[in-house]
Amino acid sequence: MTKIAVFPGSFDPITVGHVDLVKRGLPLFDKIVVAIGLNSQKKYLFDLDQRKEWLEAVFADYNQVEVAHFQGLTANYCNEIGARYLLRGLRNASDFDYEKTISQLNHIVGDGIETIFLISQPEYSHISSTIVREIIKGNGDASPFIPAEVIVPKF
Ligand code: ADP
Repeated sequence: MTKIAVFPGSFDPITVGHVDLVKRGLPLFDKIVVAIGLNSQKKYLFDLDQRKEWLEAVFADYNQVEVAHFQGLTANYCNEIGARYLLRGLRNASDFDYEKTISQLNHIVGDGIETIFLISQPEYSHISSTIVREIIKGNGDASPFIPAEVIVPKF
């Protein structure tokens, strides 16, 4: 059976921390679907097309990686595409507290979906999309935190 994992997130924008996680996940799965989850309550800095374009550029050379987006429950999306695994990253204890609950819920709602966690590498554990957005909004240089393919407009 093909082992498919979904790596869900907002990717607003994708960071080098996300990229590292996907690359480290590749030996574990046949396919990783990097999927932008759309939440109508959430305000994004970059629109869906832009975020998707960046993901596609970053993973263009990786035929094991697919880029997608979805609405609604992550567990339902996994079931729709036949993914039995979720890939998530843990940077610190607050990630753990949050992720633990979500993963337990997904296991029930998703009928046994397993979340596989990779601990962030030390050099990436301080990087988050939130911080990157703040740097971008303040017209700072976010390039150390984002892949080269992500060219951000001036705000
Ligand atoms: P969300 O908006 O759903 O939190 P994010 O894009 O912030 O989505 O994060 C998606 C996943 O990527 C989460 O599992 C998060 O822990 C992980 N992640 C984010 N930044 C890093 C990083 N620097 N190192 C490792 N994992 C990370």
